[in-house]
Amino acid sequence: MGKRGIQYFTLSEIEPRIWFMLTGCDFRCKGCFRPARDGGGTLLSSEETLKRAEQACLKQYGKLPTKAMITGGEPTLDKEYLLALVKGLKEKGFEEIVLMSNGYEIGREENGNYASDLVDSGLTEAHIDIKAFSEDIHKWYTGKSNKPVLNAVRMLNDTGIELLIQTVYMPGIVDEKEIEQIAIFLSSLNHNIKYRINPFAPTFAFEEVTRRPTIEEMKLAYEVASKHLPNSIISRSCYREYPTPPAQETWITVYPDLTFKRRTIKDQEEDRISWLSHLKSKPRGEILRKLELNRDDFEYRQELEQAIRSFSPSPTNPNSNKK
Ligand code: SF4
Repeated sequence: MGKRGIQYFTLSEIEPRIWFMLTGCDFRCKGCFRPARDGGGTLLSSEETLKRAEQACLKQYGKLPTKAMITGGEPTLDKEYLLALVKGLKEKGFEEIVLMSNGYEIGREENGNYASDLVDSGLTEAHIDIKAFSEDIHKWYTGKSNKPVLNAVRMLNDTGIELLIQTVYMPGIVDEKEIEQIAIFLSSLNHNIKYRINPFAPTFAFEEVTRRPTIEEMKLAYEVASKHLPNSIISRSCYREYPTPPAQETWITVYPDLTFKRRTIKDQEEDRISWLSHLKSKPRGEILRKLELNRDDFEYRQELEQAIRSFSPSPTNPNSNKK
């Protein structure tokens, strides 16, 4: 079995919960903002990964949490490693094991039924990105076909696992027309599937492929999607909570050598600034100036929050899937 690069583990301060940040990715999304995409970190086997994660949790919480999120980069690149990691988490008593993936490896025919193997190993939930419905847009944006991605969604849905599908609204590229096609496809599989639409954020995008969508565009995307999928939502986050995560100021980052560091959103920004500056061979000051120009303003965030609240599934709504 191979080893995977681990950038770090993240521990929540809101409740006992661990994220596994695996490095490397098979896509090259033009709007990617994740330094983990490019590999690096410490190479660990699944057993070593589990052992260090356990040590980190025991030190922070005094016990193992019941929730684990496996993300990256792309966590599915080594099937054997991922199945062993999921199985190991289940054996340790984790009750919610969530995978965040671009779906490509899961849906490749050569991988057999990766989806049901994951579920048999103990996976309880999957979050899959559908970057675009049109093959040409998907190829242009990610460098890969979307057929395996759509196949992965189909196969995961067939297992009955909890599923959340996500798309980033990119004006002029992946707009309401693409989103409606995705919603129709999802609805043909499962009318109750959860679907989340996030606005493109050019601030940290590897390439500024487009602008951020207006609030009106986001509302329209929601209206179009929710005609087909009652559990659609717009959000401001690509992370796990549905419809949107609670505000969080700091996280505990644990590096594979078990060094602990409390980090803020600013620290995460620093990682991205260094990554962009290094990859684009541009001085840090130049990257920073561009970031400031693109940063979401307060008013936009407020208006988006308002729209999100107005569209969020209500806890009293029987269709609500909010956790
Ligand atoms: S956005 Fe995600 S899938 Fe796309 S290149 Fe970045 S890490 Fe990979």
